[in-house]
Amino acid sequence: MTTIADILGNIRTYAPDADLQPVMSAYLLAAKAHHGQTRKNGEPYLNHPLAVAGILSELRMDVETVATALVHDALEDNPLSKDEMTDAVGAVITELVDGVTKIGKLKFRNKEELQAENFRKMMLATSRDPRVILVKLADRVHNMRTIEHHKPEKQREIAKETLDIFVPIANRLGLSKVKAELEDHCFGALEPEERSRIVAHIESQQADLDRYIARVCTIMSDAMREYHIDADVYGRLKAPYSIAKKIREKGMTLENLHDLIAFRVLVTKKEECYLALGVLHSSFQMVQDKFKDYIGHPKPNGYQSLHTVLLGPEGRTVEVQIRTRDMHRVAEEGVAAHWQYKEGHLALSPDELTKVARVREMFEAARDTQDATEFQQVIRSELFADEVFVRTPAGDVKKFPLGATALDFAYAVHTDVGNTCVGAKVDGRMVPLRYELKSGDRVEILTSSNQKPSRDWLNIAKTGRALSKIKRFCELEEREATIRLGREMVEAELKRFGDSVQKARNEGRLKDIVKKRNARDVDQVFFDVAKGDVPVATVIKKIVPEDTYLEKTTTPYAGIANALLSRFRSKPSGGPSPILITGENGVAVEMARCCNPLPGDAAVGFISRGRGIRVHKATCDQLATLEADRRVPVEWDVTATAKHSGRILIHCNDRPGLLANITQVCEKAGVNINSAEARNLGDQRALVQLELAVRDIVELGQIMKSIEKIGGVEAVDRVGA
Ligand code: MN
Repeated sequence: MTTIADILGNIRTYAPDADLQPVMSAYLLAAKAHHGQTRKNGEPYLNHPLAVAGILSELRMDVETVATALVHDALEDNPLSKDEMTDAVGAVITELVDGVTKIGKLKFRNKEELQAENFRKMMLATSRDPRVILVKLADRVHNMRTIEHHKPEKQREIAKETLDIFVPIANRLGLSKVKAELEDHCFGALEPEERSRIVAHIESQQADLDRYIARVCTIMSDAMREYHIDADVYGRLKAPYSIAKKIREKGMTLENLHDLIAFRVLVTKKEECYLALGVLHSSFQMVQDKFKDYIGHPKPNGYQSLHTVLLGPEGRTVEVQIRTRDMHRVAEEGVAAHWQYKEGHLALSPDELTKVARVREMFEAARDTQDATEFQQVIRSELFADEVFVRTPAGDVKKFPLGATALDFAYAVHTDVGNTCVGAKVDGRMVPLRYELKSGDRVEILTSSNQKPSRDWLNIAKTGRALSKIKRFCELEEREATIRLGREMVEAELKRFGDSVQKARNEGRLKDIVKKRNARDVDQVFFDVAKGDVPVATVIKKIVPEDTYLEKTTTPYAGIANALLSRFRSKPSGGPSPILITGENGVAVEMARCCNPLPGDAAVGFISRGRGIRVHKATCDQLATLEADRRVPVEWDVTATAKHSGRILIHCNDRPGLLANITQVCEKAGVNINSAEARNLGDQRALVQLELAVRDIVELGQIMKSIEKIGGVEAVDRVGA
């Protein structure tokens, strides 16, 4: 059983000058919080945090990490609040505890491999400070040490989760001692008989193995001394779990397996590793193709070592790892090595530790960057940098690029969910579509059958999937709107002949034009009409019976469209229906830049070739120069709420803050400014041109009046009026 005295004693050995107050405060708080609580085996609950803190002090972790371990369970299932904890142990430790509590709440449900991988990454990404993970791993180590208090079924469940989630994390972080211990506990829980068989086998060989280890160590040590290499040589028994793995991988029986032991040679300098290797290869015969240089090519988790297999005495193969003592520390303790006290001081200065919240910055500040370069890259790219991991209500974990939004999540669920998404709930709280996902979020999408994608969404979505789905939807809808518009244009003309699209369709009179245009169907023809690729008259000629057409068109008139236009202007009853401009017609309708018409303005459409209808003000000078027979009557849809751009010119004094005042007025009126441009006219006068998003001329007029009232503004004019 670990006591607080053991922990303080441990810390004193590696950090004699450290301030131990945080550990004492944390201990007192833990004692208070867990007072009267017991563990499954009946012992006081406090023993658990003490044991976890003990494990971390054996890893020579910094004071804050050890203190965090002492109170790591004090927020959960406890009346203790975050504020109370902050008062007792400070903000840093409380934040760490909060991190541990948070990842403790992440429940791993889906057992698929991909899900496990995502889940591991989510845990890592959720705990911004890697010390959170170290505490969580130590917590799991102690829980595994005491696993026998659970029922066998529960034991298996916990062991499986440990193998799926915690062992790979320990491996990824290079904590090989922790990893080995976890694996062995899992092995015991999952295959107790197999483990007992291996342990019994090792015990039966113990005396022989000890003798053999001593014999080989002597030979190796002598050889090192001969070449003046200061080396520690030792042999060790392999863990039951790794022996079981070997048997399985090699398809061998336990009795035939000889490499139950492995040797290590620890030296001081990197060069000595290669020298030691040379010495061993001259003393023993080498087994071909078994040499690996993890010093020249470190493993992604930072592991460095030379591995070789030799033919030892008595014809037995001998595995040897050669590394420096520093490499050994990293090999055994991985990422933890970076938060440890080294010769009484933190591997990082306390200043650096508090300043940096994220692990990549932590590593940039780390001292031994040379050894850890590749490790840093892995940390950066795989663990923390560019991805977020969030959960569905069903507990699945989904991966997104950093910056992805609730809208991306909706499209990841299903295209229909994306297309009708109105917002989301994150951990029960309402958020808008543009909410940026954070690792650990539990996201639930809200939909409405009235919702549909718009081009604005292209600025909200970040993932390729969502962007392409939104684009596709908008294009389809714009195509439909264009077809509707083309049909409306044809319909308006047909009305002159007492005809209609429906009637012509019923009588089979639409076939000719489809054939003539080589179109897929009649919709394609309407589409081309709206785009201006085919004149309305061409279509009408093919639809209306010849005699009707001649009768109506031989009467003197100045062009069909002109006639329409004149009717439109005088608005006679029973005249051709004007094209309805809803503002949402899509690409086939655009407002002419020369006069910037707005709903409420008298307007005329002009069918420009290949680009659909361009709407001009009826009074536009530009319009007067355009071909009369391509003009069509248009009418604003008064029920439409779409925004149009209205341009205004503001003549004003060139005084500081004026533009800010104008902006405030627009903001107050709820009018967006699309663009603003100010020009100094000299003589302390300026001209400001604004492009505003407004509904109609009424709204534009109101905002112009408000701007006129601003001090320093002389006149406000509408551009193109
Ligand atoms: Mn715990």
